[in-house]
Amino acid sequence: SAWPSAGSLAFSDFSMRYRDDLPPALKNLSFELQGGLKIGICGRTGSGKSSTVLSLFRGIDQHLVTGSIVIDGVDISTVPLKKLRESMSIVTQDPFLWHGSIRENLDITNERTDAEIWEALKLDDKLDHLVANGSCSSLARALLRNKKIVVLDESTSSMDHITDEKIRHVVDLHMKGFTVIAIAHRISTIVNYDKILVLDSGSIAEFDNPTVL
Ligand code: ATP
Ligand code: MG
Repeated sequence: SAWPSAGSLAFSDFSMRYRDDLPPALKNLSFELQGGLKIGICGRTGSGKSSTVLSLFRGIDQHLVTGSIVIDGVDISTVPLKKLRESMSIVTQDPFLWHGSIRENLDITNERTDAEIWEALKLDDKLDHLVANGSCSSLARALLRNKKIVVLDESTSSMDHITDEKIRHVVDLHMKGFTVIAIAHRISTIVNYDKILVLDSGSIAEFDNPTVL
């Protein structure tokens, strides 16, 4: 359960397709990220941003994948699926409200004290004025889960300027030391990030510090 502890990430010659009869959606991606750093993934529609995130959670059958994704020295293809998915947090703006109590929604694995849950709800309440409901509870949940790797995948359609700014604020203030992998729809979201990955038709067009790009 200590994995991942640093939250380092390495894609090596990673390719994937959605079906045998389709061309690859990701082509030979190779890049590395140190644990605790923040990477913004950008690129036009269809460039492979969501496919990259999907691959990280092993949402694609292994026979459609070549190359490797390694987290803290462990090839994710060797990790049981449930364990892999429990090991990272994902924040999306899909307002998926589950059935059950607030506790069940915020603390899926039932590891947190009441005090910790109230603390997160306070944050939730503050953000509620500023952030759309879906990403708000989702962000609070990610903070509570306290996993070293947090993935932010906000959909373009629902992303307004204020929401974007507030999410940036939460990431800056509350996600220090976390590895953050964010799909970014505006440059402003990721100017403070450590690395920017620009995808183009499933390949890496750029991978560098935002100051260089
Ligand atoms: P957007 O900005 O629109 O969200 P994206 O960068 O996330 O785009 P992906 O969704 O990763 O792009 O798509 C990469 C490629 O894979 C595209 O050519 C897309 O048509 C294809 N693709 C995505 N999802 C599927 C799927 N479920 N089945 C088949 N092809 C898919
Ligand atoms: Mg997408």
